[in-house]
Amino acid sequence: MIPAQFDYAVAVSVGDAIRLLGEGGEDAKLLAGGHSLLPLMKLRFTSPSLLVDIGRIEGLRGIETGDDSFVIGATTRHADLQSRDDMGLIAAAAKQIADQQVRNRGTIGGSLANGDAAADLPAVLLAYGGSVIVQGPDGEREIAAEDLFEGYLTTSIASGEILTQVRIPALTGYGYGYEKFNRRAEDWAMVGVCALVKKGADGTCEDVRVGLTHMASTPLRATATEDALRGQPLDDEHITAAAALAAEGTSPTGDLNATPDYKRNLARVLTLRALVTASQGA
Ligand SMILES: Cc1cc2nc3c(=O)[nH]c(=O)nc-3n(C[C@H](O)[C@H](O)[C@H](O)COP(=O)(O)OP(=O)(O)OC[C@H]3O[C@@H](n4cnc5c(N)ncnc54)[C@H](O)[C@@H]3O)c2cc1C
Repeated sequence: MIPAQFDYAVAVSVGDAIRLLGEGGEDAKLLAGGHSLLPLMKLRFTSPSLLVDIGRIEGLRGIETGDDSFVIGATTRHADLQSRDDMGLIAAAAKQIADQQVRNRGTIGGSLANGDAAADLPAVLLAYGGSVIVQGPDGEREIAAEDLFEGYLTTSIASGEILTQVRIPALTGYGYGYEKFNRRAEDWAMVGVCALVKKGADGTCEDVRVGLTHMASTPLRATATEDALRGQPLDDEHITAAAALAAEGTSPTGDLNATPDYKRNLARVLTLRALVTASQGA
């Protein structure tokens, strides 16, 4: 399919991109890796009048490692994250995004701003309790992960704003597990589960975070599972009982791959596996 006609402009700075977006009006869109936007344009699900390319803005791509957090530039590619073993769960999830060609082009900012319920990184941001920085005509603001995802392909980033940075606490000392189920290797997640576990000095679960992908129109935390496991021994019995609660409060939709019930079962099974792996690494 061929997209509708559009204008194209290369932004040289964040300020330039904000100006171009403002001039382009409501139908202008940012272009990062293009690996979500261009397929939608080819299918004519969206027809922006102007694409503002942010791929060449200096300083927007890269990872800064602080004492207790990672600051990731918006145009940092999935491929930049996948080899960073010091980034634990973030790298583990990035490795499982599509194939290497997609990871070479797709960006973390594009993935989070796109707000696709089946994307891998949104649930990871939510589980870490991270945030994003956005800049727009009225200045800069920080949006916590729990306030970012509003619905299918909908986030709280306004149309004139640019996501510039992703901030993720390092959560040193946490074990992690990432489980993704799909029909074919390299597909989108039918369901995905990420888990972070911190073991206390007495061997019990001091903290646990579980993120669910594709179990609703937005990523979710499996709060019933987290509440059941926090403070409990990290043994088979308690992990299995907590994982059995993973689908509580979810609302997965049925699709060509799976019914809602099948997805709920997947969430429980994958949560068990992710928690076991995370506990072993904690
Ligand atoms: C075949 C295929 C398989 C895929 N499989 C997976 C998968 O398994 N898991 C997964 O998570 N993803 C998958 N993806 C999606 C891929 O990861 C995308 O690259 C990513 O979701 C979007 O990033 P992008 O940089 O390509 O964004 P783009 O496509 O350029 O942009 C996406 C949207 O975000 C907006 N946007 C981009 N950057 C910003 C910014 N900095 N600030 C504000 N708005 C912005 C754009 O205007 C657009 O609306 C797949 C893609 C393809 C083509």
